[in-house]
Amino acid sequence: MNPDPFIPCYRRLPLRFVRGEGARLFTEDGRPYLDLLSGIAVNALGHAHPRLVEALRDQAGALLHASNLYRHPWGDELATRLAEASGLDLVFFCNSGAEANETALKIARCHHHDLGDPRPGFLALEGGFHGRSLGALSITAKESYRRPFEPLLHGVEWLPPNDQAALAAALRGRRAAALILEPIQGESGVHPLEEGYLQAARDLCDETGTLLIHDEIQCGAGRTGSFLAAEAAGVVPDLVTLAKPIGGGLPLGAVIARAEVGKVLRPGDHGSTFGGNPMACRGGLVFLEELLDHGLLERVAEGGARFREGLEELAERHPSAREVRGRGYMLALELEVPAAPVLDALLGEGVLANAVTETALRFLPPYVLTDDEREEALSILDRALDAADATLHRSDDP
Ligand SMILES: *Cc1c(COP(=O)(O)O)cnc(C)c1O
Repeated sequence: MNPDPFIPCYRRLPLRFVRGEGARLFTEDGRPYLDLLSGIAVNALGHAHPRLVEALRDQAGALLHASNLYRHPWGDELATRLAEASGLDLVFFCNSGAEANETALKIARCHHHDLGDPRPGFLALEGGFHGRSLGALSITAKESYRRPFEPLLHGVEWLPPNDQAALAAALRGRRAAALILEPIQGESGVHPLEEGYLQAARDLCDETGTLLIHDEIQCGAGRTGSFLAAEAAGVVPDLVTLAKPIGGGLPLGAVIARAEVGKVLRPGDHGSTFGGNPMACRGGLVFLEELLDHGLLERVAEGGARFREGLEELAERHPSAREVRGRGYMLALELEVPAAPVLDALLGEGVLANAVTETALRFLPPYVLTDDEREEALSILDRALDAADATLHRSDDP
């Protein structure tokens, strides 16, 4: 057996997980880890959620796949509920975030094409992340992610977040097909956009006939304590893309569109073989039911506020910690020191988080995190920051 038979595009820890339960993951030798990352914002219901397991067992014995040539009840119900929860009308199902964004870009191009006013360009934000496929990569800001794969889509212009003057100039000057943004930027380090900026983007897109795409793949589907993060600003986009948690852990992505915008894709224009298969939709239905019918959304709002308070208290007390960003269960702790040693200390104590930048820890816990688990995580972090404080003092010494 090749000891490492993988294309080496991931930097992986030498941990092999074989089982999970709630917010805990277990390695093959039985060591438990408190999972504050949820498989990068995916396992919102935690691991082995009993209702989810039961539904998926049932679904596996009923129907896995029949193709998009036909309908099935789980897809019909999930699409209806997602459109309603988003304040939008039409849904396209796919399998990932990148695929959802590709679809949104195609819809935007097609919309202007149909109006007899082709607009090739896109506006995207510095710090924005939208996925790894060539189209999604074209609108992803990080230069090192894009460089080896150029040329990408032409006509993408980058805007500084929260700069309304630059936004107005670009939208009025460029006649772009769409503006795409994350209401809370995830991969750049958990940076919420200002509510005034989100509203200005909506107003300027209306004024210029530019479509507004919200990428809520990381910040949406309940993670911030509302179904969509942009609800806090009272802004509804023309298209929203969702993925990560919406399949309850199974691969599922979605584009949800205003009716007049979504209707531009006609038979033959787009497709996805696996997109919206019965298994993924059944997982998605359990996720939505837990979130919207069984009080999980309220739990995220409350638990997230407590988590944030706990982090703020640590940031006040520890010289190695600087500020807390984000809301709900999408939080970052910006440090005065490199994040890697703090992350190692957490890992040594059985806590999983990640370093979203060189100096920021990111927490994306499962929505089912209990009060005890949160307090346990905060006290372990407290100790890890004690050690980080000590390194800070040492480096201050002459
Ligand atoms: C993760 C992510 C994506 C890409 O999703 P994949 O499922 O990995 O393709 C796109 N946008 C945002 C904001 C993300 O966080």
